[in-house]
Parts: sequence; structure tokens; C-alpha cells
Amino acid sequence: MKRTLRNGLCLILAILCLFCCFACVKEPEGPDDSTDPTIQQTEQTPTITLAASTLQLPEESAFILSFFEADEKLGGIKSARPTSANAYLNDLILDQVQLQINSLAPSDSKAAALDVLAVYQVESTYSFEFLAYYDLSDGSRKVAPFFVSTDFTSGTILTLGNRIRLSNFENGNANEYVPAYLAEHFAGQYQADLIPAITADQRDGFYVSAGGATLVYPAGSIGNTDRLSVYIGDAAISQYRRTGTTPTEAPADLSGGDYQPAGENEKVVAMTFDDGPGGASTARLLDYLEQNNIKATFFINARNVANLENSASDQALLQRMVSLNCEVGNHSYSHPYFSKISVSDRIYQVEHNAELIEAACGVYPNLFRAPGGIFMKNQAYADDYFFIDWTVDGGSGTEDWRCKNDGDGGVHVANAYLNYIGPGSIVLMHDIYENSVSAAIIIMSNLKAQGYRFVTVSELLDLKNKVPDGTIYTSQTTSRNYMSYEQG
Ligand SMILES: [Zn+2]
Repeated sequence: MKRTLRNGLCLILAILCLFCCFACVKEPEGPDDSTDPTIQQTEQTPTITLAASTLQLPEESAFILSFFEADEKLGGIKSARPTSANAYLNDLILDQVQLQINSLAPSDSKAAALDVLAVYQVESTYSFEFLAYYDLSDGSRKVAPFFVSTDFTSGTILTLGNRIRLSNFENGNANEYVPAYLAEHFAGQYQADLIPAITADQRDGFYVSAGGATLVYPAGSIGNTDRLSVYIGDAAISQYRRTGTTPTEAPADLSGGDYQPAGENEKVVAMTFDDGPGGASTARLLDYLEQNNIKATFFINARNVANLENSASDQALLQRMVSLNCEVGNHSYSHPYFSKISVSDRIYQVEHNAELIEAACGVYPNLFRAPGGIFMKNQAYADDYFFIDWTVDGGSGTEDWRCKNDGDGGVHVANAYLNYIGPGSIVLMHDIYENSVSAAIIIMSNLKAQGYRFVTVSELLDLKNKVPDGTIYTSQTTSRNYMSYEQG
């Protein structure tokens, strides 16, 4: 394997030498172990070299670097891509590479080719730096570098977000927060007039570094500089991390004022509603919450009952939740049991749903509740989400969803739930059923009369002071005294 690798890289090196007169491509800096973010100017080295450290791929990782000649799919003269032992990940890499090649293609490009320039490894993560070559209609050739980062353990493509937990900035408010972070942290280290260029999103991409990621800026994008590498560590960015509400608002439902994690005698409850939004029943619930100034948490499926991406009324329901300081969480896109779908499908279910939620209401969720409460061990998105189980679901046989056709205005269900609810409960109900909403209203009215306060899940668990670490928040003390935590 090593010999194949060496031969392949020699071939690449030869090709790079051929092309280096066409484009000034510098090798990026190697992984940076420092914890403080710094800006580093690359040295003025005119030749392309491959850092030896990037070639030391561990045998035990079953990592194979393969080179493919004249890959038709890439329409190229020559192309190369890495392959892992994970066939699924290989497909993800290929898809990602193809996306990048397409997005970088000049309008007059006639053909494209691809090479791997470097590999960066930190533990199970690998970043591949590619060079895309485009033959242009005037006979010239353009070279465009880009990166694809992967995690071989979780079998995922890493985004900058899930690498350094910038995910909440990658959509929506990215334009607001990434520049804010960069400007603040690099202001003292770089000429003031170059800061706007640093904060503009003109990166070649990023590669994995210990404890974070290194952003790479193309030559000439920041003043008259060479290519720049900017390390961002997770610790440094953490203070900018969004925690469940749009950051431009005061995070009213997270700051929660004086809320402390529930003590034994503190009457606080987090009402949570899954599987919606549910149209008229959800609207009725929101009416009640608004009239009584009660905050709840909604775990949304973009495509289950709702049709979030295509329905303005469904989107309006989410917007209304946010406006009422309710919390919006992720319950997967279409509600499959995660034990029955592949790791890749789980990732899609989580990430696609989050994107649609953000598109609908401006909030990128940071709470995840698995459909059916079936949390799996292989949770590639564990860095981005707090996993929220529930503690009260009505008991055995009187769960709200089982009783949706009771026809008694929710009385039976409400009585069952009230038997279990106590200080600190996380109550599971479903706002897609009229009977459940009726029961929820009875429950909340009753609890209110008992002196209970209603808080969001983040407030109940004091999540603003925590970082997602794979913990599944649940309880052993009420009706749901087990956890569905399966192999996977
Ligand atoms: Zn559900």
C-alpha cells in the first residue's frame, strides 16, 4: 500500500511541477497544535512540496489512497480521490469532490482534472487538499485548490461547523458571527485595513487541526499576501456559539433569568411537543401558550405531518413558536427509527431537518430528540446537539399518542400525565393531535394552579452553561425510567 501511495504521490508531484508555472499554489501550513488562534503568513516558497508529515498514514486505519486515471465522472484528464475502507464514506467523498469541482468551475472551462495535494490527519479525521485543474476555452489552465475533511470513525464529511462547532454560524447568521469572531480575534495581530478581507468568506476551505480547524485563504485575497492559514480552536469560538435562539435577540428563553437546575422542591416543568408542527392543533396550543405566557419546547419534523419546506403556514407556526420564546428542537426530517436506517441516513435526517428549520424560522436547533427516543451510539452529530429524552410520557397505555381518539377532551390523558409529573419533569406530548393539545391545556392549567413554572428544555437543564458531549438527558425517577440506547 505504501508503495502505491508513494508512486501515486510522485506522479502527482510530477504533474504539479508541470503546472506550477500556471498558478502560484503554495502548500498550506501543517496542522497547528497551538490553542490560541493566530494568523500565520506562509513563507515565500515558490515551489510546491508535499510535507512529509502529510504522507504518514497509519496502516491500522485501513486507509487506502487510490488514484484513478481518467475518471469519466469527473470529465477529466486525470483525477484522483482518496478512498477509505468505508464504501459509504467513499461515496460521500466523491459527491463532495464533485460538488466542489462544479462550484469552482470557471464559466468557460472545457475540462476538469483533479489531484490530491496533501492529507492532514488528527486522530480519526482526515482532510484532503485537492487541486482542481480546469482547461479553459482560450487554451489556458486554471488551478483551484479546495479541501474535503472526513471523520473515518463516524463515517462523515466534516463541515467547518461540526469540526469546530461553528455549525450554527454556517447558515443564516454565519455572515454575522464568523466575521465578528475573526475580526475580534485577529484585530491585534494583523493590519487593520486587512481585517475586512480576513472576515470576508473567501476561503479555499479548511483542514483539520488539533482542537479545531485551520482556514486557508487564497493568495492575494488578503492584501498582497501569499496564501494564509488561520487556526481557529473550538475553545476560542465557543463563546460565539449560538445556544438555541437567534443570536441577535437577547436569548430570553436561555438566559432564563434566575433559573437554576431544578431542585427537589422547585416546581418547574418543561413541556415538550414532538412530531409537528401540526396545523390547527399546534395553532391552538400556541394560542394557549401565548395567553398564559408559557414557554414550551417543540421537536420538529420538517416532513412528517408538516411539509415545512413547501408550506408557508407550517413555517409561520415555527416563526410563532420562536416569537413566543419557545424552543425549537430537531426531531429528524421524516421520523424514521434510527435503529433501522444507516448512519448516513441518520446524518441526513438530522442535518437536512436542521437546515429546513433554520430556513423556516431563523433558528438552527441545538437540541435533538431521536424518533421514538431511540438514540443510537453512533451519533456523528454529537458535537452539535444536546440529546434530549423525556421523563414523563403518560405511563404505559396512556401515552397521549395512544389515546388520540379518546374523544373525552383530553381528560383521561391529562389525569394520567398529572400522576407522573413532578419538579423537573420533561413531559412528552404531541401537538399534532387535537386530543393531546386538549390534554396539554388541562395539564398546564392544573400545574399552573399548583404553582409550577414552565421553562424550556435548555432552561431546565441549564444548557447554556454546557457543551454537547453525548449525554442523553433523561430521568430515572418518573414514568419513563429506562433509556432506549441501542447498539448502532
Ligand atoms: Zn416523535
